[in-house]
Amino acid sequence: MNSETLVEFKLKHKQAAEIFRRFLKSGKNRITPERFEVMDSALDYEGHFGADDLYILMKNSNSRVSRATVYKTLELLAQCNLLSKRHFGENMTRYESSFKRQTHDHLICMDCGRIVEFSDPRVENLPDTISSELGFKIESYSFNIFARCPDTKNCKYFNNK
Ligand SMILES: [Zn+2]
Ligand SMILES: [Zn+2]
Repeated sequence: MNSETLVEFKLKHKQAAEIFRRFLKSGKNRITPERFEVMDSALDYEGHFGADDLYILMKNSNSRVSRATVYKTLELLAQCNLLSKRHFGENMTRYESSFKRQTHDHLICMDCGRIVEFSDPRVENLPDTISSELGFKIESYSFNIFARCPDTKNCKYFNNK
């Protein structure tokens, strides 16, 4: 990491911490160092993760944060839009950082679970347009494409058999 990206990296975490602090305060939630520890780890996580994935990662780096705190804090981070919640057709919630990231949608391989992110203006404008046409104010939307890798040689599901 060069010095410039390190500065940007620190600034990102500082700005996120400020947003989170204000949110916690306004909701009369307790402001604890553990919650910011979870926030830092969640923002650094590459890709989409379940609460337990993050908990195990933090445990492995000797964090003393509890499982309950991880679960609760991820919910709070989603409420103030630092994280997005995702459901990819399994019975679990996944999270990903949405701070300073472009909005995007997902295509999921039903065999190997590979997740491909994409941004397409055709999809982006649609939820807003449809909501207002129906007389609603949009809060959120989800758009997932479930598909199959076209080439079984590149699909992990067939390669691990
Ligand atoms: Zn994503
Ligand atoms: Zn696949």
